[in-house]
Amino acid sequence: MLKKGKKAGFPRFKNIDRSKSIYYPQSGFSLNDKNKKLKITPFGEIKVIVHRPIEGKIKTLSLKRESSGKWFAIFIAEQDPKPFISNNKGQVGIDLGLKTLATLSNGTKIKNPKHLAHWEKILAIKQKKMSNKKKGSKHRYDAKIEVEKIYEKITNTRTDFLHKITNNLVNSYSLIAMEKLQSQNMAEQNYGKQINDAGWSTFANMLTYKAESAGSQIVFVDPKNTTKTCHVCGNLQDMPLRERTYECEKCGEVSDRDINASINILHKAITVGQTGNNASGDNHV
Ligand SMILES: [Zn+2]
Repeated sequence: MLKKGKKAGFPRFKNIDRSKSIYYPQSGFSLNDKNKKLKITPFGEIKVIVHRPIEGKIKTLSLKRESSGKWFAIFIAEQDPKPFISNNKGQVGIDLGLKTLATLSNGTKIKNPKHLAHWEKILAIKQKKMSNKKKGSKHRYDAKIEVEKIYEKITNTRTDFLHKITNNLVNSYSLIAMEKLQSQNMAEQNYGKQINDAGWSTFANMLTYKAESAGSQIVFVDPKNTTKTCHVCGNLQDMPLRERTYECEKCGEVSDRDINASINILHKAITVGQTGNNASGDNHV
């Protein structure tokens, strides 16, 4: 994050659309990582808070202003590929959901943090307050800033939470299987783009970029029939959304709907082993 831009002469945006970004494709900037200073043409030297050490050769820089008014510097760096060394730990399948963010094939359920729901309620109240203000008025503008601040708080809280979980997963497993998400395409992800509600794609992207250095491999599988299949005998049966338990009509196995799915996801990764972007995007049913 960049510290206050006033001294550095950043442009001040007075219009309602306060988000803005500036892109430096190759030159016009230099970063002194030790002094935590970023030199940019034509703004001069700016103090920065470095969130993650930058590895490799810096290629591009984007300066982005969040709607709350904070500036962020985003670097893209290139690295030589390193040989993959597995951490030789266990294997796990993950089923992603709404109320439960993730269900693991070992039976663990990872819930979204409770305080998120609290802030989401406040967000709804602030949004209502904003919609009651007259369009174009100063009061509405102030209310909009309040909404944006809460939204940013929610996004940051969720991101912190996802970092903790994904760190834990890549350090605990050498193979992590999950379903290929429809929206998952790294190239389509804009930095600073508002995270989708459940944070699935952020979760998948974090796992992907953290995996290699932790000695873990992420395998994305075709989501087809992962919920409808019995993980014990392979029987296929309908599973309407209201059915929270899988009761196999063939072998009698009774298991939690999401745990059954996560075991199937792991089985698929081991037997089919589809990775990257080759898995088909069939709807998860
Ligand atoms: Zn069965």
